[in-house]
Amino acid sequence: MIKPLDFNTSIVGIKAFTSERGNINPRNKYSEFNVCNYTGDDALHVLDCRMQLCMELGIDMDSLIMPHQTHSSKVAVIDEKYMSLDIDKQETALEGVDALVTKLDSVCIGVNTADCVPIVLADEKAGVIAACHAGWRGTVARIAAKTVEAMVKQGARAQNIKAAMGPSICQDCFEVGDEVVEAFSKAKFDTKVIVKRNTETGKAHIDLRKANALVLQQAGLTASNINSQCECSKCNSKQYFSARVMGTDSGRTFTGIIKV
Ligand SMILES: [Zn+2]
Repeated sequence: MIKPLDFNTSIVGIKAFTSERGNINPRNKYSEFNVCNYTGDDALHVLDCRMQLCMELGIDMDSLIMPHQTHSSKVAVIDEKYMSLDIDKQETALEGVDALVTKLDSVCIGVNTADCVPIVLADEKAGVIAACHAGWRGTVARIAAKTVEAMVKQGARAQNIKAAMGPSICQDCFEVGDEVVEAFSKAKFDTKVIVKRNTETGKAHIDLRKANALVLQQAGLTASNINSQCECSKCNSKQYFSARVMGTDSGRTFTGIIKV
């Protein structure tokens, strides 16, 4: 169901992980393990998967927190005030949010992805953790840097933050139209570094992980603290959900982090 997501160096007291699909029924785009409730899956299946995950993590259902992502660059802080809100207000607070930050113990925060890059971040000294969803739009909007800023506001220091990326689309699989390259170029990304052309098709391919690693370094992280080595969701779509393989009405891979 879940497997550990490794930082470049081990971190004590913080657990990061990513979900795997599990046993797959080829006719069911939500099989087997999916905790995302806004991409068309059956509500009972989502609830059942969330219960399994909470049991595995040893937490209550209300301590498993994920936003309703919309490819924004909005970051929300999960604090005691948020935890004390009623369910409707909690839902409203996480509408259109694509990154979460917390200092709370035993609260699992995470993001749902199917090809986009999930990033978990932690400053173990300050006890601040975060999870962020960076598709190409979020990457262009530098959501990873905004997440680091929000962590710093909570007491983290950028040079102490470690980051790890989860299963996401590889550069060979991530063919894009020239308008996407243009968006990166306009946002002052060095397209020579993150874009390559397929010599046969002439199409552009973007390295989203490298783009996010550069954003994190610009935000003050040390290169050696960033683990961008991860599997490709599209090349491994039997193990992880891939919107490019299954369409957007499909399950999502959940990438989470928790202070244990
Ligand atoms: Zn791939």
